[in-house]
Amino acid sequence: MRVSTATSGRSDSRVFTVVVQGYGTALARNAERTINVPFCRLQALMQSISQLGGKVISVSPAGEPAPVAPAAAAPAAPTPAAAKPALSKAAVSHADVPVNLYKPKDPFIGTVTENYSLLAEGAIGRVNHITFDLSGGDPHLRYVEGQSIGIIPDGTDANGKPHKLRLYSIASTRHGDNMAGDTVSLCVRQLQYEKDGETINGVCSTFLCDIEPGAKVKITGPVGKEMLLPEDEDANIIMLATGTGIAPMRTYLRRMFEPAEREKNGWHFKGKAWLFMGAPTTANLLYDADFEHYQSQFPDNFRYTKAISREQQNAKGGRMYIQDRVSENADEIFSWIENPKTHVYMCGLRGMEPGIDEAMTAAAAAKGLTWAELRPQLKKAERWHVETY
Ligand code: NAP
Repeated sequence: MRVSTATSGRSDSRVFTVVVQGYGTALARNAERTINVPFCRLQALMQSISQLGGKVISVSPAGEPAPVAPAAAAPAAPTPAAAKPALSKAAVSHADVPVNLYKPKDPFIGTVTENYSLLAEGAIGRVNHITFDLSGGDPHLRYVEGQSIGIIPDGTDANGKPHKLRLYSIASTRHGDNMAGDTVSLCVRQLQYEKDGETINGVCSTFLCDIEPGAKVKITGPVGKEMLLPEDEDANIIMLATGTGIAPMRTYLRRMFEPAEREKNGWHFKGKAWLFMGAPTTANLLYDADFEHYQSQFPDNFRYTKAISREQQNAKGGRMYIQDRVSENADEIFSWIENPKTHVYMCGLRGMEPGIDEAMTAAAAAKGLTWAELRPQLKKAERWHVETY
């Protein structure tokens, strides 16, 4: 374990702050504790923590910020050399994650069960929630939260060849919206852009937004291991989503807070979750009523922060983007990240990434740390998950 003892050259009147987990009486064992000790007692405290099976989260000179800490390092006495934060791997289970059960040459044929708009009146564009029946497949097309599936739209391209598949993030938990474990749902925006004065509609997104219940659709996958949730029920989850990038976040939040889903999955989330959601207008917010409801039911566990770009302004008078909300809350977000149980998930427009890096750079600098060094460590520790386009 690396610990910060940056002032170790001084006299032994120094005091250190030790953050420890699983140490103390029965009640205190589950909590994280902060203990201040004089240098002369530090070694004895470390030995005691070690003997009682506690976990040292960080050691730093009292009054100075703790380094970003390793999750499961063995307790050890501080060494003068280490001033750099260190990170260890957080548990994200990749075991039993299905991949490519159905390939483009032999896709699963799913049946549309419902297709409805997620937008309120006055919203910009079209975004639909579409559900497919997956029953009857051999193998069964199963998936977990954070994965994507491929859709091959009907018809042929300009060269007369069958269309290629498009990937969409799954918006339902592994149990599906009906809890029966045999459906998958997507959240799809119809892609539209102007070319030479003409409006071009995206091939697959238009195919999906127009599709009727009962229609048969070619489905491939599932794919993806980047956006998996950790198994730890005490994990903290920060979610940064723009537009339909909300899809994986909806699966996480249902898994955490939707009563029927919680009962079914047996995964009783006890950590904290914080969703930052970016949408152009209030009418474009996706699954907003559900998230508001979770916030009212689980106020200690869930926070929901919106950036509504065309209705709210950032501090500079420009459009309020998700990175502006991150910037406003950067110190708090950073202190969450210092906790080794915290994971960050980002999904949606690639354009949000530089702004989020900028906000984190400033927050890290305020603590004497360098974000450009920390972020790769978080990534390596499988605590920084990005899927942007
Ligand atoms: P959208 O509704 O067009 O936009 C969502 C919000 O992001 C709007 O408020 C928009 O603001 C804002 N925004 C625009 N540029 C931004 C920037 N540089 N930084 C931060 N915010 C910005 O979103 P959408 O059409 O649903 O698109 C979401 C994107 O996510 C698509 O590119 C889609 O392909 C992708 N996506 C990825 C995944 C995945 O990674 N698996 C899953 C689903 C979707 P203004 O428009 O007001 O400027």
